Amino acid sequence: MSLQHVYQINMRDNVAIALSDISAGTKIGNGIVALTDIPQSHKIALCDLPKGAPVLRYGVCLGTAKSFTPAGSWINESSLDLPDRPSLDALPYGTNIRPYSLLPDPPRTSWMGYKNNFGPAGTKNMLGIVTTVQCTVGVLKVAVEQMKRSLLPQYPHVDDIVAVSHPYGCGVAINAPDAVIPIRAIKNLIHHPNFGGQIMVVGLGCEKLTYDKVLTDEENIPENVLTLQDYEGHDAMMQAIYAMAKKKLEILNQRCRQELPLSELRIGMQCGGSDAFSGITANPSAGYASDMLVKGGATVMFSEITEFRDGVHLISARCIDREARDKLVQEVAWYDHYLEAGQVDRDANPSPGNKAGGLSNIVEKAMGSIAKSGSAPITQVIGPAELPSKKGLICAVTPASDIVCGPSQVASGIGLQVFMTGRGTPYGLEIAPVIKVCSRNDMKKHWFDMIDISAGDIAIGKATIQDIGNEIFHMILDVASGLKKPYSDQYGFHNDMCIFNPAPIT
Ligand code: CA
Repeated sequence: MSLQHVYQINMRDNVAIALSDISAGTKIGNGIVALTDIPQSHKIALCDLPKGAPVLRYGVCLGTAKSFTPAGSWINESSLDLPDRPSLDALPYGTNIRPYSLLPDPPRTSWMGYKNNFGPAGTKNMLGIVTTVQCTVGVLKVAVEQMKRSLLPQYPHVDDIVAVSHPYGCGVAINAPDAVIPIRAIKNLIHHPNFGGQIMVVGLGCEKLTYDKVLTDEENIPENVLTLQDYEGHDAMMQAIYAMAKKKLEILNQRCRQELPLSELRIGMQCGGSDAFSGITANPSAGYASDMLVKGGATVMFSEITEFRDGVHLISARCIDREARDKLVQEVAWYDHYLEAGQVDRDANPSPGNKAGGLSNIVEKAMGSIAKSGSAPITQVIGPAELPSKKGLICAVTPASDIVCGPSQVASGIGLQVFMTGRGTPYGLEIAPVIKVCSRNDMKKHWFDMIDISAGDIAIGKATIQDIGNEIFHMILDVASGLKKPYSDQYGFHNDMCIFNPAPIT
């Protein structure tokens, strides 16, 4: 007899997920009766679990039962002991390589983007004004708002003007070893594909992050940099910003979209506000779209170290070579050390919202999180805000924090991000459009005009992972081509560029 009211992911699993709130006494099949009320997306035991028995979901051990747990019990974080964290010693590579021929074929093989003579093509044509220090941002925001109204309409082929607001630049230990991360983030943001190679950097004049740290000698010229302390008062400052912006806009306005192969596209995947459905519906669908993109030659990045850390052996097995595996070990070891220095427990990652959404611990979250990387081989591993030198599936080892992972991937040159959510977040990025995919239809009903795609039909058998994967794939190409705007762009819901700075603030 099949189970009712619940979803069992792997036949080996001894727990299943409640498809909706289950009240005590509900029969779910096979003689199992819910012993207590069980909230939607939480786990129910499918058999009696002796103390110490492994609790299996995705066919993977999430932890062991803390005490005897009868069939029909609600399983949550208080019922489980965590398994040991996978060691970084002797991680395999190349042992789980799915040939490209077995990846699903992309239904479209071209898109309309802005070709660059460096890196991938742009999904937008924007003037990006990047600062070397947060002190200038008040001026820049006012200038950009005014220029959007008075200047931008004169340049119909330019999509937008953006002031890139980040917290770095001064009052920082600029020579600390870990300062390389925020510095390369700013350097790579200046050279983002959506800015079309037009450089406009605004500094204050006394900050530690000097122009030479983020620009080459050829780029560090008066035509590209503007120092606020050089100008006498407000009006002169604004006029200088306008004058430089106009010159850049003239050049950007000559660009237009052209038909390009998928190999010119670089996108990122992220999840946030996850629940127990994220790993069944939204993330595997995004993974399917990722597989189609990778097969078509595109570059897809996935991240969020604290989520995949407990499945790192599964990631390394998909690395195509020793170089990728070694870089994975190096980056993950660095992050382990970073967390240890902060005296942080690895179980600190699942948020209260994750737990309320049925994710008991970091192992369960890891398995769901990894699902968004699909099944393609991992061609390269990069550190936070580094640029990939290869195409295909890239593991970018960044924090999982939504507002830090996003800017890190943008610095790594993504032109678009797909964001999976269970609990809902209005998150968005100004530089790269964000497509929001939710894990449950309830979420879509609740935020009907803020979530772009619902993967919830998968949980109720009305759609397959392939169906939703195709829907996500088409939306990616439509948004990247400028044919559609995701809700976050329609409303202008955009987070700041909270770039990752693990180095000391002084
Ligand atoms: Ca995240």
